[in-house]
Order: sequence, then structure tokens, then C-alpha cells
Amino acid sequence: MVQQDVTPIPAESIHHWDHEADVVIAGYGVAGAAAAVEAVAAGADVLVLERTGSWGGAAAMAGGFIYLGGGTALQRACGFDDSVADMTAYLNAAMGPGADADRIADYCEGSVEHFDWLVSCGVPFKAEFFGEPGWEPMGDQGLMYSGGENAHPFNTIARPAPRGHVPQMADKKQGEASAGFMLMKPLVETATAGGARGLFDVRVQSLVVAPDGRVVGIRARQYGGDVTIRARRGVVLATGSFAYNDAMVAQYAPRISGRPAASIEQHDGQGIRMAQALGADLAHMDATEVAIFIDPQQLVRGILVNGRGQRFVAEDTYPGRVGQATLYHQDNTAYLVIDGAAQEEAMASASPQLMMRPPTWVCDTVAELEQEMGLAPGSLQSTVASYNEAAERREDPLLHKKAQWLKPIGSPVGAVDLRESTGGFTLGGLKTTLDAEVLDVSGQPIAGLYAAGRSASGLAAWGYASGISLGDGSFYGRRAGRHAAKG
Ligand SMILES: Cc1cc2nc3c(=O)[nH]c(=O)nc-3n(C[C@H](O)[C@H](O)[C@H](O)COP(=O)(O)OP(=O)(O)OC[C@H]3O[C@@H](n4cnc5c(N)ncnc54)[C@H](O)[C@@H]3O)c2cc1C
Repeated sequence: MVQQDVTPIPAESIHHWDHEADVVIAGYGVAGAAAAVEAVAAGADVLVLERTGSWGGAAAMAGGFIYLGGGTALQRACGFDDSVADMTAYLNAAMGPGADADRIADYCEGSVEHFDWLVSCGVPFKAEFFGEPGWEPMGDQGLMYSGGENAHPFNTIARPAPRGHVPQMADKKQGEASAGFMLMKPLVETATAGGARGLFDVRVQSLVVAPDGRVVGIRARQYGGDVTIRARRGVVLATGSFAYNDAMVAQYAPRISGRPAASIEQHDGQGIRMAQALGADLAHMDATEVAIFIDPQQLVRGILVNGRGQRFVAEDTYPGRVGQATLYHQDNTAYLVIDGAAQEEAMASASPQLMMRPPTWVCDTVAELEQEMGLAPGSLQSTVASYNEAAERREDPLLHKKAQWLKPIGSPVGAVDLRESTGGFTLGGLKTTLDAEVLDVSGQPIAGLYAAGRSASGLAAWGYASGISLGDGSFYGRRAGRHAAKG
């Protein structure tokens, strides 16, 4: 991939502006749309520049989880009690070492209001809880555990509550249309009704800077030519992550190299690099979401072992945590050991079976399986023996899988080869204030420049929970729009 030139353009060199607005937003995904809604509400004239032919971005393709809590109306309607303190304690533990406690506190305190704001924009939520293991609800249910809150170790740290809020997609077809669309459509309609304009097929390339260092516009490419866009009050960068910029991934998050997932090609890091060229600072560039490509209905019913035949993570936790543990701590090597009865039960429970994986090996005994898999003699046998012994008592002293999933592994027994079965997207990006101002390497805001969504670093440091990206993207997108509108 050829890196685009991001050298800032001096405003004095521009003699003609092709377009202008008070607030110019780059990228019409979730952060851009949320910024547009709030900027027009604050009275600004808003122009959103989008590289593709339509609004939506990764957000419109997303499963639609929005991580919210602290006692939202949806949580209450589904019968769950949650508090800001529990949500904060969970996120401080789950977002990984180095997570920004001030940002987490800010986000948790604003979470109930943010949910109400989404509803006021017309985002629909069905007051029904989905309690099965899964990557997302099977139907149009609105609430689900999406971060392992009710599994070890988080259930010992904070009172669990489901916080994955999912917009209702009435005619949902798994693997086709997704709930993220039902987040994006109302947001874009609200922004448009407020007067926000969208300009499509415009690829933003570099920032235009006044002699005093203030960002006053953008240079972009449209239909093979240059266009200049003046921003009277501020520019918001909302162009997404760098998951598809191979050079940046190799530099900052090499373990995810070659395995982008849950992302789109347009996430090429352009917005991040444009701001870097002005001295912007970065944060959490090594953080990634990591999915493991298997149905959680299978995961919970088996045991996951590494290349030494040993268990390493509770199989009933958030599958993204399983993915991270596998990629980062087990050299991307995992095998799911599952017996015939459990496999059949999993097959019967999930519909459709998009991520259901057939066993790679099936044997009568664990000893034979261990040999077929090429594991060290005795390694898997001792793992299964100690798991079975405790499972008889419905206990898991090693990893604390919940009792409901504990059953001794019987015969026939199979294993799913999950080597190289992970993928994900990057979470790091521009360092910003809680008002979404982009900070430079000296810790000072760059005047006129804001960022939100995955071009900014958000809540996640190393860890992740489903819904964090649409959550902090929309939350801090709003902040960016509101503060840019003030000029
Ligand atoms: C299949 C799938 C499932 C997912 N599920 C979830 C989920 O359930 N919950 C969750 O929180 N996250 C989920 N994600 C991730 C989430 O969608 C993204 O992290 C989120 O949309 C990021 O928001 P954003 O505004 O930064 O980027 P986007 O929503 O992708 O918006 C960025 C926009 O900027 C545009 N753009 C890029 N470069 C330029 C440029 N140079 N000039 C102009 N425009 C540009 C892009 O075309 C895009 O429209 C999922 C993603 C996928 C693909």
C-alpha cells in the first residue's frame, strides 16, 4: 500500500476554497454521524466528507453492540440493576493495563444520558435480554452480556450486569444485515434533518493550517482532482482505525498483522497520519480487538487447550478475551476439546451455525486424541483427568468456568484445530482530551482539531468488550461535534 502524502498545507497557499462550513467532519461512520448531530444542534453549519459513496462505515456493518450501563432505561426494562460504580470497576479491570481511568469514569458517568440521547435520535431498542452464549443475539433482542462481566475474573471484581445494547433490526438476518445499520440510519437522519450536509466520494488527505498553527481546513481528492474545504470553526477526524494500513500495523501492533477482521479497507490510518504530521500524540497503538473464529456455544461446552495440552482461559468468558489470550499469550495456538454429546448439543443450540466448527480429529479416547493431535504424551490426558474429576463436583478450581457448563468430557472425543483462527482490529489512535481535542506531543491541544472513533484512542488499552467502539465512538463523537461548533 502506498502511503498518501499527509504534509500539512499552509492556508496562505490556498486561493480558492471549493467548499466551506463551520465544522468539517472527515468520515461518515458512527463518530462522524454523532459529531454531526451535536454540531448542528449547537447551531453550526456542518459538512461531512466521506470517502465512499454513502454514509455508514464499519458501523453500519457492525453487530451493533453499544457498551452502556450504570442503569440505562433498557437495563431496567430488562430487569437488571446496574450502577456507575460497578460499570467503572468492570471497565477499569477489563480495558487492560494502562487504561485511562479518567476517561472510563467520564464515560460511565455519562452512559445513561448517552443511551437516552441515542433513543432521542430514533435508535430503536427492544427490551428483551438474550442470555445464550454467542457473539451477538440470535434475534432482535436488545441487551446481552458482551464483555464477560458474569464470568471469572470480572464476576469477582464488580457486580455483573449486561451492558451490550443492540439496536433493533426487525428483519435481522444473521451474517447479512446487521444491527449497526439501525444505529447509523437514525443518526444520519437526525444530522441531515438538522441541516448537516454530506459530500461523498471525497478522500481526505491533509490538513490546512493557518500561520498561528490553527487547523482551518482540509485538502482532499475527489474524482481524480484536488478539492479544498474550509472549516471556519473546527475539523473533526472520524476516519476510523489503521487496521488496513499494513505498515502501521507492522510498526505498532505486529501480532495482528495479516489478520484484519471486523474492519473495513477504508480504515487505512489516514486521519491518524494527517494529525501526526502536525505533531499529534498517539496512545494505545498496540491495543487490538481479537476475535476467535468459533461459535461460543461450542466454546462453553468444551475445554480450550494450548500447544502443551493445558487450559489457559475460562471458556465461558467473552470470546474476544479468549481471542486475545490465544493470540497474545499462546502463540495463536488453541484446540477446543469437545465430546460428541457436547458437540451435538452445541449444534442444536445455535441457529444459524455461522461459526460452528466441525472437529478436526475424533477418537474414542483422550490418549488417542492426544497422539493424533501431536501433543506431548500425557499432557492432554492429565488436563482432561483433572478437569473431569472437578467437573463431577461441578467445580473448576483452575479457571472458574461457571457450574452450568461443567460436565466431564466423555467418548467419543474430538478437537477443533483453532491454530491461526483469530483476527481483529486496532484500537489505538490519536491522543485526545475528554473534549475530543487532539493533543500534540507536548500535551497541548492542536487548535481547531478534534478526533473521535477509532482514529482516536478510546477506552480500551489492552482489553476489550464488544460495544466499546460504537460506544466511545458515538460518545466522544458527540463531544467533538459540540466543542468544534464552539470554535
Ligand atoms: C462486522 C463488524 C462487526 C462489528 N461489531 C461491532 C460491535 O458490535 N460493537 C462495536 O462497538 N464495534 C463493532 N465493530 C467495530 C466498529 O464498527 C468500528 O470500530 C466503529 O465503526 C469505528 O467507528 P469510526 O467512526 O471510527 O469508523 P467508521 O464507523 O468505519 O467510520 C469511518 C468512516 O470514515 C471513512 N473514511 C476513511 N478514510 C477516509 C478518508 N481519507 N476520507 C474520507 N472518509 C474516510 C470511512 O469510509 C468510514 O465511512 C464491528 C465492525 C465490523 C466490520
